[in-house]
Amino acid sequence: ANAPVARALISVSDKTGIVDFARELAGLGVALVSTGGTYKTLKDAGLAVTEVADLTGFPEMMDGRVKTLHPKVHGGLLAIRGNADHEAAAKAHGILPIDLLVVNLYPFEATIARGATWDDTIENIDIGGPAMIRAASKNHDAVTVVVDAADYPSVIEAMKANGGATTLDLRRRLAAKAYARTASYDAAISNWLFDALKETATPYRAFGGSLAQALRYGENPHQWAAFYKTPQGPDARPGVATARQLQGKELSYNNLNDTDAAYELVGEFDPARTAAVAIIKHANPCGVAEAASLIEAYERALACDPVSAFGGIVALNRTLDAEAARRIVEIFTEVIIAPDATDEARAIVAAKKNLRLLVAGGIPDPRAAGLTVKTVAGGLLVQSRDNAVVDAMDLRVVTRRAPTAQELNDLRFAFRVAKHVKSNTIVYAKDGATVGVGAGQMSRVDSARIAARKAEDAAVAAGHAVPLTKGSVVASDAFFPFADGLLAAVEAGATAVIQPGGSMRDKEVIEAADQAGLAMVFTGTRHFRH
Ligand code: 5GP
Repeated sequence: ANAPVARALISVSDKTGIVDFARELAGLGVALVSTGGTYKTLKDAGLAVTEVADLTGFPEMMDGRVKTLHPKVHGGLLAIRGNADHEAAAKAHGILPIDLLVVNLYPFEATIARGATWDDTIENIDIGGPAMIRAASKNHDAVTVVVDAADYPSVIEAMKANGGATTLDLRRRLAAKAYARTASYDAAISNWLFDALKETATPYRAFGGSLAQALRYGENPHQWAAFYKTPQGPDARPGVATARQLQGKELSYNNLNDTDAAYELVGEFDPARTAAVAIIKHANPCGVAEAASLIEAYERALACDPVSAFGGIVALNRTLDAEAARRIVEIFTEVIIAPDATDEARAIVAAKKNLRLLVAGGIPDPRAAGLTVKTVAGGLLVQSRDNAVVDAMDLRVVTRRAPTAQELNDLRFAFRVAKHVKSNTIVYAKDGATVGVGAGQMSRVDSARIAARKAEDAAVAAGHAVPLTKGSVVASDAFFPFADGLLAAVEAGATAVIQPGGSMRDKEVIEAADQAGLAMVFTGTRHFRH
């Protein structure tokens, strides 16, 4: 059914480009029908256009809730061309075929983004638009459906090349896109309602998102990849999805993943209290520090593992200043992300053309609710975001010795960092800086040993006589199942421990800690991260 397009129904909220498109259509002999607002736009531009009310014989009514919901519209979109029954029914009821549907929907996502009232948001749920889009898409064998202004040129091009008709391939492609649009639109509405109900875990939660960026490739060059953003309210958490890239090469899949890990981590540090810097490699921190200034925090984060920091992602919790920028650009760095950057800092980074600089307008709120989604073969695993923070935890001293004030500060720091390290996680820290990070090992004792070994390497690199773990504190993201992990930390020179507790062998682990003169606190909260 590759007949030329004879009639188009155009109903668009966003009128961008619509006059030029309609004029091209009219030039190709297409009769135009439109809903009120679109009709006025086209008529004002001097185009011949019929109002949909004249087609249906019904006025648009109920504040526009009912405009196109009529058999003359839906019959025109759905009738199978060449089907005798359908054509007889159309004839009997005076239904004219509609061959091209151009619709973009009431801007629901933009309405929630500007924090509109409940009633305003409800009114911005488009009903007739999605109904027409779905009808036209079902009948794409004959009907062309356009939901995105970016597709106007390809429709005109196809019509010009095919004597006024589009191609089946184009119609299929557009129909597939159209159903994706109605699906993400409904997902946005559903999520908005669930959010209002404060319900996350429901059997029906929809997962919508719109394409923000087609990525060059995925984790590896042979993998396809794209970045989808989920619609967010006006209180959207600052983060990778809201950040603005000021300069540098296009972000890759791995960059986005690592930048997210980096920024979520520095979000744990209140910028009013301290400056904090995290350096991330492969989604794990190779150095984190808090200090009075960003430059100091950066230097100390870098000292933790200067070898791994090469090609890393640097996240800062305060406005990037010139001093820190000057030091960061000395080392090959993939991405810098911060809430903002001073003009001077921007100019310094600008000298490194490829280096990506992102400003996010604020820092992530570690206590905010949210969802994380992970795929498994054939499904999705969904959970609420880990928004537990150590400051809100009831720390229980379980050893004879209680931590000193200095140790307690470092224990909190280490546990904050441990939350953002892949399990099994061991983090050694001293004076508000990591000195050894053990990530992603299959056994906790291995993580403890690796972290200690890394600290020794760092000490050698810095020319220190003793490993930096001497006199440090240690955090474990989950309980020590045996005393061996704890003993490895003792051997490395740790003096205090923070861990969730809750193992069958807690008693044994506490005894080992007491014997070594350690101070140990239990958080009661675990921070697995896989
Ligand atoms: P216009 O600006 O032309 O008056 O309206 C265009 C918008 O109306 C489009 O976004 C389209 O999706 C929407 N629309 C078309 N028909 C209906 C309908 O019957 N009910 C509702 N709620 N919206 C419709």
